[in-house]
Amino acid sequence: MNEEGALTASTGARLEEAFRLLANETRLEILFALYDAPDRAVSFSALNERVGLGDSGRFNYHLKRLTDRFIYRTGEGYALLFSGIAVCRSMLAAIDADGHGVEPFALDSACYNCGESLEARYDHEHVVVRCPHCGRGFHDFPLPPGALAGRTTEELLRVYDLWTRAQTVLAANGLCTWCFGRMSSAIVAEGPPGELTTGGASGERENPVERRVRVVHRCDRCTGDMRTTVGESVEAHSAVVAFLHEHGVDAFETPSWELEFMWNDALVTVLAEDPWEVRLTIPGEDETLSVTIDGDVRVLDVRREQV
Ligand SMILES: [Zn+2]
Ligand SMILES: [Zn+2]
Repeated sequence: MNEEGALTASTGARLEEAFRLLANETRLEILFALYDAPDRAVSFSALNERVGLGDSGRFNYHLKRLTDRFIYRTGEGYALLFSGIAVCRSMLAAIDADGHGVEPFALDSACYNCGESLEARYDHEHVVVRCPHCGRGFHDFPLPPGALAGRTTEELLRVYDLWTRAQTVLAANGLCTWCFGRMSSAIVAEGPPGELTTGGASGERENPVERRVRVVHRCDRCTGDMRTTVGESVEAHSAVVAFLHEHGVDAFETPSWELEFMWNDALVTVLAEDPWEVRLTIPGEDETLSVTIDGDVRVLDVRREQV
């Protein structure tokens, strides 16, 4: 077992115990009876009746095993803890979903790099948005298959865009949306060692393996991580939202793949590497907005300049 990752020897043993607890029909029935109940708490007798076990001794045994792990006891009976709700919802998300993929389809959005139409697909529970012409990647992020049910592909992408951007905003503010642990954000350089290719005004970036700057948000608790661009990490900053608004762009109505500042590495300038200081310059018609961040992705400076 990897002691560096989430699955250490001790978490492995605790997970095994949790799965043993859940791998029992009666206990699952108890959890879902509480999940489906109109009130938060259900009395012992009503719960027993719902599950239909009859033998109150055996029923009590199963209740005890779940208590303080997935359910808790109240004055009125039993209720689900947050972990119990999460277990029920995760199971429903995993099994009660239309898991088929969506074949690649053209978007009504142009690639910032080459001007051709972007393409999206839903593949193995991930949404992928890319440019089939120049190969630029925009998104490749998991989305639960329940998102497909009853939605058109346009609606699916809208939901995905809101979801992934909300995830990024929360991650950049230190919250892991999977386990609610603390996330920390850090600038990283990716690609082969050498000069960081940034700050060029020309936007000529034909080589996809150039070294570039990204942000990794990593959860201290579950070790879950997210990798984003600098632009994605600062997109919800009030100065960015206001700048876009003043230039006729609604930051959240516009799909993220149409917002060039989130993707174009030529708009990112590395001012210093040790410690990190990175500047993102967002172009407007007659002025630019520069947002400077440090290695922990804290905004150090925001500046508007006429061009
Ligand atoms: Zn392209
Ligand atoms: Zn986490």
